Amino acid sequence: MDVLGTGIDLHTHSTASDGTVAPQDLVRQAREQGLTALALTDHDTTAGWAAAQEALPGGLRLVRGVELSCVAGGISLHVLGYLFDPAEPAFAATRAELRDSRVHRAQRMAERLEQAGTGVTWQRVRELAGGTVGRPHLAQALIEQGLIGSVSEAFSPQWIGAGGRFWVPKTEVDVLEGIRLITAAGGVAVFAHPAAASRGRTVGDDVIAAMAAAGLAGLEVDHVDHDEPARAHLSALARELGLLSTGSSDFHGTAKTVRLGAHTTSPEVLAALVARASGVPVLVGSGDGAPG
Ligand code: AMP
Ligand code: FE
Ligand code: FE
Ligand code: ZN
Repeated sequence: MDVLGTGIDLHTHSTASDGTVAPQDLVRQAREQGLTALALTDHDTTAGWAAAQEALPGGLRLVRGVELSCVAGGISLHVLGYLFDPAEPAFAATRAELRDSRVHRAQRMAERLEQAGTGVTWQRVRELAGGTVGRPHLAQALIEQGLIGSVSEAFSPQWIGAGGRFWVPKTEVDVLEGIRLITAAGGVAVFAHPAAASRGRTVGDDVIAAMAAAGLAGLEVDHVDHDEPARAHLSALARELGLLSTGSSDFHGTAKTVRLGAHTTSPEVLAALVARASGVPVLVGSGDGAPG
């Protein structure tokens, strides 16, 4: 079981995507809570890296990463990429394309909501998104209009859940291509929340085996969206396929209820991930780490 054991949290979001905590505050919070390593993995962007790096407190390691929007056989899935070179052109171009598609689809969803008389406007959604725009920003606009009470209520067929009344799909990268792009940029790829059934359909073990063959390094086993049987299955599958098992919070600030460090990764697994990466190094904060 996972009880803040090691202090290594390998999946978090900031205001550079759909989290509510700025990157510089996220690293400070991580240190204050006693974490020893934190990965910043905003959706399809590295825009938060610099601010996190600049504010990195002493004693905290920063694993620079991304959460890539992928697809396999019509099923949306997320792949975490760690320690890749952000300037590698092929992967950088893919991330830019995904962000561009997100803007257009968010605008279309906002316009549909506006036409339905909800009071939501594209202008307001844009104001709410400080970086990569996502459905949580539209959810926030719906909350402001008093139409729903929480972000998760927006993810229903009535609103912007997959296939829902106001939902518009976004561009996603074929998952095997995504893994190859991350790896070719010197990074290391981990399948995020592979069994998070609450978000929609999940892929079968055959797809995970194909991902492993394409260079996947690990599975995010310990995640708030996985029940105990799902974790047991995924850790057995990871062993079978020679993959690492990670754990992380997928912290989004107040956009979700999970707390920073809710699930963690062992130091041995982090070391194995780092050993496979050649894009950028893990950064270590210097100084006394006093929160600024
Ligand atoms: P998008 O990236 O725009 O497709 O929106 C997906 C994001 O919304 C995910 O990364 C989560 O942060 C969030 N999300 C997905 N499902 C839910 C849910 N049921 N409740 C709250 N947030 C969710
Ligand atoms: Fe998110
Ligand atoms: Fe995700
Ligand atoms: Zn995430």
